[in-house]
Parts: sequence; structure tokens; C-alpha cells
Amino acid sequence: MRLTTLALLLLATTLSAQTEHGVFMQDIDTRADACANFYDYANGAWRAANPIPASMQRWSRRWAAGEQSKEQLRTLLDDESKRTDWPKGSIDQQISDFYSSCMDKARIDALGTKPIRPLLNEINAIRTSADLQKVFAELHDLQIYPSFGMVSTYDNHNPGFVIARVAATGLGLPDRDYYLKPEKRFADARKKYRAHVTKMFELTGSSHAAAKKASDAIFAMETRLATAQMDNVALRDPASTDHKYAVATLQKFTPHFDWTRFLQHYGVAVDELNVDQPEYMGAVEKELRSTPLSTWKAYLRWNVISKASGNLSAPIAEEQYSFYGKYLGGSKEMKPRWKLCVEADDALLGEALGQRYVERYFPPEAKARMQELVKNLLSAMGDTIRALDWMTPATKARALEKLSTFNPKVGYPDKWTDYSSVAISPSSHWENVVAGLKFGTADDLARVGKPADRGRWGMTPPTSNAYYNPALNEIVFPAGILTPPAFDVHAADAINYGAIGVVIGHEISHGFDDQGAKYDAQGRLKNWWTPEDLKQFHDRTACVSDQFDSYFIEPGIHHNGQLVLGESIGDLAGAKIAWLAFQKAQQTRPAAVIDGLTPAQQFFIAWGQFRGDEVRPETQRLMVQGDPHPIGKYRVIGPLSNLPEFAQAFGCKADSAMVRAKRCVVW
Ligand SMILES: [Zn+2]
Repeated sequence: MRLTTLALLLLATTLSAQTEHGVFMQDIDTRADACANFYDYANGAWRAANPIPASMQRWSRRWAAGEQSKEQLRTLLDDESKRTDWPKGSIDQQISDFYSSCMDKARIDALGTKPIRPLLNEINAIRTSADLQKVFAELHDLQIYPSFGMVSTYDNHNPGFVIARVAATGLGLPDRDYYLKPEKRFADARKKYRAHVTKMFELTGSSHAAAKKASDAIFAMETRLATAQMDNVALRDPASTDHKYAVATLQKFTPHFDWTRFLQHYGVAVDELNVDQPEYMGAVEKELRSTPLSTWKAYLRWNVISKASGNLSAPIAEEQYSFYGKYLGGSKEMKPRWKLCVEADDALLGEALGQRYVERYFPPEAKARMQELVKNLLSAMGDTIRALDWMTPATKARALEKLSTFNPKVGYPDKWTDYSSVAISPSSHWENVVAGLKFGTADDLARVGKPADRGRWGMTPPTSNAYYNPALNEIVFPAGILTPPAFDVHAADAINYGAIGVVIGHEISHGFDDQGAKYDAQGRLKNWWTPEDLKQFHDRTACVSDQFDSYFIEPGIHHNGQLVLGESIGDLAGAKIAWLAFQKAQQTRPAAVIDGLTPAQQFFIAWGQFRGDEVRPETQRLMVQGDPHPIGKYRVIGPLSNLPEFAQAFGCKADSAMVRAKRCVVW
């Protein structure tokens, strides 16, 4: 039987009304006014009924879903661990033995700090600068980066190619401001940090006097290093860290570090590399030249203890948590052991664990539906670019060219990382961690000097997150984020476009935010804008920066508009193009009123329910200082209060809080 288009449409409407669900009605705080405070309206009832769990720093349905996928991994690993005859070197053997050894808390506690003794002894035995540099390279193998680190990156000027990058690292506090700024919250953190370092040395066998002396010397050294580092806002400008140096030039610049030997250690044969912060490397050179070896040794020991602590016995793991998790992050207790072990398994063997995860938990129809959504969002971005009234045809053509080269990745990699060389035993947790870290370093640096592998992923499949990579112009959505409330094959289009649709739009828009707009269609850090268009663009992004500067966090703290600019442009443009894509989708799949809410209302509530989270005050302070993402409340209010479609959907008056007098429009 052949159905007419009208009959098909009617059928689709009926079906969608019957089988597809709308927003989470019980989450809405019906006492709140959507036009006054949409953050409370959209999911205030859920947040009131679901306080942040003791071990978490942020909470919402979305965070709960992320933790739920860890429960799935736990079930999977428990099942796999029941069998002990997996073929040696198979991914089942690796992920289950890693998990079992990590779960053996009795053994880990009995060992105390014994696993890192050989490393600490090696540091203690350093007598010369050459010894120091040898140990330094060995610590890099374990992804311990005292003062600086070398990792792979895409060449800003030839992004199809991988180069080595020297990055500034080495601070125990979150960033330079914590060492240098006078505000009480920073001064308090400094005091607590120094006490924490002292305590950690005591827990590894130092006397109080020796521990305090080491802590003082380390803090003074880190403060000198911090002084020479760029701040979080400066670091957001890709041009500020774009410095390619010939190895010979870097060698002249830092004569007290033997780069040839260091590069040889990794088998990295290059003539040049990117030095993110050349001035900072001058400060490192100064430390190598004039800081006593005893201080360097204390600093290296502290870096080892800090990095290893989570894999050692309870007293040391708990002390580390008490500073970073409890004091800085504001959570009330450590995560349960099983969760820490699932996270460690995911961090070190993520594509082995992820392979089993997607087989069990990621349905093929989810991937197909996502690919369709991504296609529609890319098309909406194209319409938006073509319709801009402020951009000249020349720049539009370049923007559209860039859009045409986007590479979307959904769910999981087509080709998995091969971990077969990683030896994982059921008995020794620390050795497993070491094997995983060493593999990660070798795998990363083996890419240097070669063409980019475009099949590679930067997040593991169970990760509840997504990203944009400007060098390869790719947008990536791991399976872990493709669950409710972000995405649901059983939800109405309004919900999927309002939640994951805005996320897709957000990632696409990163290609055109204040950072992404500096990369061209080939992923080169190269201007493609006419001067007039660039000025227009900056005027528009300044509106967003000012908007977020105005958001109050707590007395004395506002959002930093420049720090969160890229993410805020992403949300604003993302919401707009998701809305346009949703309108277009309705031409073939008309949306229905569900639970008394119009499709437009459902769309915006879906964003509020996905993005609105409760954040501990301590974590808010950390985020406002160092996270380029605004806190959830403002990711809901910020973009939506700029959209006339939102005001129309809820009938908001012109003077409502959710209707900005000066609307920002970038894309
Ligand atoms: Zn983003």
C-alpha cells in the first residue's frame, strides 16, 4: 500500500505522540517563572530532590548519567573478572586483571609506599646534573612532568603532521594565580598546600622538620616557576603558544638541559619542536643553573609522591584527596574504591575497556540517529553562515569551505588502540599503572615526525563528554554522552535537538569561536578573515564576553568573560543552529505538544535539564578561575536569554530577566 505524504505525516505525528516522550515533567520547578529564572524552572525540582552525592563536586541528571556509565563498566568488569583463564595479552585479560589488582585494597594498604621506594631511592641517589636529567626523563615515561613536559601535538602550520611540544607544567596548585595573587582564597590555598606537602613527606617517612624544610623549598621553587608562566586567559590565544624552535636554538637558550639526550631517550628524532612558553623555559634554565640539587631532588620526590598517591595505601591516598578533592573541590568523601578503579582502567586501557563497553551498551541505532543529527546541524550552520548580514561574501566562502571539511566521529573509533604490548598482572596494581603510563607516553611520542592519524580519538568511548579539534577540524561524540538526558532514541525530536543537538552545535561552533576562527579549512593557524569582517566578529564576541563578565558567583567573584568566551560562543551559536535544524526537521517530522508543552518549550527545557547542574561552591571557585566552561547555571541562562525564540516560546515580556536588553548574536 502506498501512503500519501499527508497520510504519512499524520501517521508520524500520531506515532510520535504515542511513542516518544517529552521533557522530564517532574524535574520542572513549577513555582519558578521561566522568564525570570529558567535555571530553576527547567530542573529546580530535580536538583532540590537530588542533593549532590558526598563524593561528587557537581550534580544533575547528566552527571548522574556519567556515573551510571561507570556502574555499567563495573558490571562489565565484575563479569569479566569471574573468568581467570582469559588468554594472556587479550583485552579481557588486561582490563579484568587491571581491575582486580586495583580492587585488592588489602594488598595495596599492606604495601604502603613500598611500590615507589625504588623511584624515591633513585632520586635520592642523584649526585650530578646529568643524573638529575636521566631521572627527569624516566619520570616523563610515567607522565610525571616536574617543571615541563614533552608531548605530541599537531603542527599549527602543517596540521596533517605531528610534532613534539614542550609544555609548561610543574605547579602543585591549579595555576600561577594561586601562587601570586593576594586574595584570601589564594592565600588560604597556599597555606593549606604547604601543610599538605609537608604531611605527604611525613607519610613517606620523613621527619616533620625534614618534611617542612622540603615543603618550603618546593613552594619557593614552584612560586618562581609560576611567576614565569602565562595565565589562563593568555593561554587561550593559540598564537601565544605558537613558537617553533630548532632544537639547536632551544639548546642554546637552555644550556643546562641536554636536549639531545632527552630526545634520544624517547627515540624522537626531530630538528625542531614547539615551545609553548619560551620565557618560561628561560626560568626553568635558571632553576637548573642555580637551584641546589637538594631542592630539585625534593621537588622530584614530591612530584612522584603526588602522582602515585592515588595508587598507594589509604593514608597517603586519603591525604591527597583531602587537599585536592575535599579542600579545593569541596566534595565530602572519596569516591568508592570500585569507581576509582573503573576510572583508572578507563584512563590507562580506555580503548580496550571501551571496546567491550560499546559492544554491550551502545546500540547501532543510536549511532545512526546521531549521524543524522550531526548532518542536520552542519547543514544548519551552513544556512546560518550564508544568511549573515555582517559578513562579506569572501569571508563567507572561506567559512563555508571550512564547514565542508568537518569530520564528525560518533560513538567509538573504527580502529582500536593495540595494547597487546602492555603487561598487566592480576597481582601488582602499581606495576600495572606503570605499564599503562609508559605505554601511553611511548604511544604518544611515537607519533612525532609522522603524518596525523585521523582515526585516532582523544576521548575514550565511555566518556560523557565531546570535543572539537581545530587542527583536524573534527567533532567527536563518544558513546558515553549518547544517553539520556543528552540523547534518547525514544525521545521526541524537540528533546534530542534541545539537548545533544545543542551540544553538536556547540562543538561545530568551536570551529568558529574566538579560537577556532583562527584556524582555516586545512586546520592551519592562519587568518582567513578580511580586516572588516574580523572587526565585526570581535565586536560581536565582545558582547558575549561582557555578558559573562557580569555574572555573579559569590562576593568578590564574577565570571571571567575572556576565559569562558569560546565555550559561551559555542553555546550561543550551538543553541541557535540546533533550533534552526529542529525547525527544518519539523518539515518532514512535525513535532507534537507533549504534556501540555509546545515543541519550542520542550526544546529549551531539554537544554536546561541537560545543562543545569548544582555545583559545590569550592568547585565554582576553581571553575571561575581556570575552567574555560562557565558554570551550568550560566550555560543555561546565558545563551537562552539572547534568543528571541526563547522569549517567544515562553511569552516573556521585554523586561524579563531572561530577555537581555542587549542581545548578543555572533553567528
Ligand atoms: Zn566546548
